[in-house]
Amino acid sequence: MANLKYSISKLIGKLTYLVLKVMPTGGKAYPGYLYLKNMGVENLNMLIKDQIRDGSILITGTNGKTTTTTMIIELFNRFYDITKSVDNNTIYALTTAILAKKSDIGIFEYGIRDIEHGQPQNVQSQVKPMGVIYTNISREHTQVLGVKKLFKDYVKAKNMLSEGMHGGIIITNADDPNTTYIGCERQKDENHVIYYGFDVDNITDESIGDVACPYCDKPLTYTHNFMNQRGKYSCECGFRRVEPDIKVTSVEITTTNMNIKIEGEVYNRTLDDKISVDVEYKLPLFGTYNIYNVLAATTAYAAFTSRVDQLKDDLESYFDSLSFSILPPGRFEVVELANKKVGIGQGDNGDALNANVNFMKQIINGNDFEFIYTTADENEEEIFKDHMHVIKNSKPTHISVMPGRVSTDAARKYYDEIEKTGLNCDFTSVEYDFEKRVDAIIDLIKKSEYEYVIVTGCGEEQVVWDEVKNRLKKQ
Ligand SMILES: [Zn+2]
Repeated sequence: MANLKYSISKLIGKLTYLVLKVMPTGGKAYPGYLYLKNMGVENLNMLIKDQIRDGSILITGTNGKTTTTTMIIELFNRFYDITKSVDNNTIYALTTAILAKKSDIGIFEYGIRDIEHGQPQNVQSQVKPMGVIYTNISREHTQVLGVKKLFKDYVKAKNMLSEGMHGGIIITNADDPNTTYIGCERQKDENHVIYYGFDVDNITDESIGDVACPYCDKPLTYTHNFMNQRGKYSCECGFRRVEPDIKVTSVEITTTNMNIKIEGEVYNRTLDDKISVDVEYKLPLFGTYNIYNVLAATTAYAAFTSRVDQLKDDLESYFDSLSFSILPPGRFEVVELANKKVGIGQGDNGDALNANVNFMKQIINGNDFEFIYTTADENEEEIFKDHMHVIKNSKPTHISVMPGRVSTDAARKYYDEIEKTGLNCDFTSVEYDFEKRVDAIIDLIKKSEYEYVIVTGCGEEQVVWDEVKNRLKKQ
């Protein structure tokens, strides 16, 4: 009976998938929802065993997971039969992807905002991934007041995605204290933990303020910051950055490209031993944060590929042909108008906002500029605090503040705090309405008296940024 129920549930799920695939929503979560409703979450593993032959890789983190996942998918897709899903954060969407087809490897982005919605413990115990990849973990917009405890819960949720693994592969960012913490925890359970990081002097950044030690909560001491909280750090309790197994050892930025070198030794699943990586890529000029994504994807491919003799060729041929199209919608880009250069895109946490500002400041090159800041929401004081730090350090000539999310009152309150610091600023109140918000951003850009304009901050949806970019490009 159990088998019959499984077959029927799988069939219903599959049929629903086929029907919904032609619908506008793409049926992203519904077939998976039906399968899990009929069979129970505890039987997801049965489906996975049936559908995915070798094993699955899960990618999580705060920033860069979509780009990293896309790169890993493209790397494997050339030689392997894969099941994939990008931009996922529910077990239903994940199950839907698994229902879609049989394959050798599953590659799934899995964003987790909290334990309740992400169910990381169920995903871990049911998917039983052969690997979990962490990009970085920083405060993002689901964080609310009472911060430290809640950020801890957020880290905990990310941690649970690999908790309980034995003999698996964890690929984690050594430069980020919270992902290093997870790596250290997984090492206790006899997993292969691979740390990746930077080993270059010419990439530096200001820190975004105090970063708490994941073990004892005291502020970490940094000797170098590569990008925001990512750097070389240590704590008086003994916790410190782990020396990376694989590193970016050279970054050369030209007017058209970034040339990078990656070297190291990582555990390879096929060899059950270490494999050397020594590659050089010519990448598009797409910002430092993407070098981390390239490094994470390189490490993942080196760890899971069975094409060990072709490793260098496989990696270099792929990354040398990479273009801007790899970046997800809403990404920061520079739009040239008749009399202005406008850098615009989503920046809904301190980390992302800082990456946008750093990128644009290279173009601004010391000239006067306008900063159009779309604010965080009610109860997102922590995000605002991180944003404020970046905005102040960027030293804009003028700041236009407008609401980025639901609450206009919260936006006004944040504006008051910016004004108190003596910065030259104005506030534009716009009610919560997609069209009105897009119109207001375009209006502010047009009215600005400066040649250089940065537009970033929180947006209720990624589409806001794409809509503004598209309308600007038409003008
Ligand atoms: Zn500590």
